[in-house]
Amino acid sequence: MEIVIIVIAVVLALAVIGVLGNYLVSGSRARRQVPPPAEPTAPQVEERPAGGTSTATLAPEAPPVEAPTAPSVPTAPPVPTAPPLEVPEPTAGRLVRLRGRLARSNSAVGKGLLSLLSRDKLDEETWEEIEDLLLTSDIGVAPTQELVERLRTRVRVLGSRTPDELRNLLREELLTLIGPDTDRTVRSLRAEGEGPAVVMVVGVNGVGKTTTTGKLARVLVADGRTVVLGAADTFRAAAADQLQTWGERVGATTVRGPEGADPASVAFDAVKQAKENGVDTALIDTAGRLHTKVGLMDELGKVKRVVEKHGPVDEVLLVLDATTGQNGMVQARVFREVVDITGIVLTKLDGTAKGGIVVAVQRELGVPVKLVGLGEGADDLAPFEPGAFVDALIGQ
Ligand code: GDP
Repeated sequence: MEIVIIVIAVVLALAVIGVLGNYLVSGSRARRQVPPPAEPTAPQVEERPAGGTSTATLAPEAPPVEAPTAPSVPTAPPVPTAPPLEVPEPTAGRLVRLRGRLARSNSAVGKGLLSLLSRDKLDEETWEEIEDLLLTSDIGVAPTQELVERLRTRVRVLGSRTPDELRNLLREELLTLIGPDTDRTVRSLRAEGEGPAVVMVVGVNGVGKTTTTGKLARVLVADGRTVVLGAADTFRAAAADQLQTWGERVGATTVRGPEGADPASVAFDAVKQAKENGVDTALIDTAGRLHTKVGLMDELGKVKRVVEKHGPVDEVLLVLDATTGQNGMVQARVFREVVDITGIVLTKLDGTAKGGIVVAVQRELGVPVKLVGLGEGADDLAPFEPGAFVDALIGQ
């Protein structure tokens, strides 16, 4: 009996504990419960006042929306317009216009000579000074000795010397040395119906060969000629670009090949095109690698031979940098062995006080200086006029 009572008591106690525990757990759950989110309310809309405008916005305020950028409409590529053609200055009188520059750069020689000759006493020492001055101006040994000899004789005959007399005397002797009556025409025009004249421009790199070819095209255009340029310096892509730019400025076509193309074939094609289009002159710029490389010089000979399949080359102009002195003379000799040079272009005369190279190089090659470069400007290439040159030398 006792046992039965104990069992009933235990069962009752467990029941009570179970009910209490259940209550406690559900209570804590209830406290942790998060109230359900409020139902979203409909946005309030302000009524548009009758007859007026409202700046009222829909609430809530819409986040700022980036204005969609309009899809870019492909525009037609700009139609390339040809740059206006330049009108080169007429060549007549160019040297006179540039005389100031020439006179400045050469005044050391001419003025130095005049002041030495004006000394009261022309003794041996003074004549030696005159000789030295001429030698340092790149005239060359033989022409210097000739000039000094002639000056000595004439001064002796003259007796007393006025500055004007001396100036005239020096002018005459320098002119004689340069060759006042030499034909310096650039042969760039053939008789009617004989096809284009072919002018080849040769020289080592850096002397101003391509620039000179471009400037010469301008000179010819200024004189009313039509010109085709041949970019036969195919080893330097920049040379062909450079030439083409020169041509475009005056409306001359440039014939060019891919980089590394056979220079002879480019030259051939240029003359062919000039022929077919009835153009007056084909101007061929050639590769100007070092003259000491035999194979490359042979190549120059080949260019000339291939071009000659069209007929004779009218002019081969050797471009020399006046500032290089004796080095230019060495180049001149080597080129003479490969091609028959018919004229010399002396560039960068504006950069040297040594005009004597004109005399030296003419003597060496037996061909005249025909053109001179007096600056980097497009029209700074002038036909060589001995009179104007000597006047500039002695500062008249
Ligand atoms: P190339 O390698 O012989 O074809 O030489 P370029 O025609 O490229 O010329 C070489 C540099 O010499 C360039 O900067 C030219 O502007 C410059 N040049 C050419 N002729 C003259 C000139 O008469 N006077 C001066 N001061 N510079 C010149």
